[in-house]
Amino acid sequence: MTGDTTGEADLDRRLADAVERLGHGLRSLAQRSARAQGLSPLQQQVVLALSWQPAARREVNALAAEFDVTTPTLSDAVRSLEHKELLTRSPSSDGRRRLLTLTGRGEEVAGELSTWDEPLLTALAKLPVADRATTLGSLLHLIGDLHRRGVVSVVRMCTTCRFFRPDAHEDPAAPHHCDLLRTPLPLVELRTECPEHEQAAV
Ligand code: SF4
Repeated sequence: MTGDTTGEADLDRRLADAVERLGHGLRSLAQRSARAQGLSPLQQQVVLALSWQPAARREVNALAAEFDVTTPTLSDAVRSLEHKELLTRSPSSDGRRRLLTLTGRGEEVAGELSTWDEPLLTALAKLPVADRATTLGSLLHLIGDLHRRGVVSVVRMCTTCRFFRPDAHEDPAAPHHCDLLRTPLPLVELRTECPEHEQAAV
């Protein structure tokens, strides 16, 4: 962290510091929520992911890539959740993978965990919609850039999608375009988790 400075020259440094503080706060929130359920933060991520992800991504290798951890680390988390009777493993339809599925108790825990980031959502809701839309666009561009540099692993956001055409329109509220949907993309509708996402060439 740097000292308190002002002026455009130091803007990027202060933005990076602010993002770091935000990340630290979110990690604390996640730890608190996971601990209340007797879970580790990674186990919490697995439970939440299994509560909504499509079957194709409900297996160890896909989750390990998504959370940027090794397969053995993710396998340990899964074993522990199995031991706590929050998930089961079963063969996929082609018999080549082990599909992870939440038990009834696992679904209940996922419901209780789902509000872990409520303080952040409450704080965001106080900002004007236009500010939130601009922030979303800026963050997605940053994440897309970090993804191309290999810093952020799996993302299914507009800015890493081969159908995304940036700055294709003059309207500042809807500057980008989706070639798949054949429509302008308003900033407020940029996606962070799109089922039609296809990875752009890096
Ligand atoms: S397909 Fe989905 S992720 Fe890709 S540009 Fe269109 S809306 Fe965005």
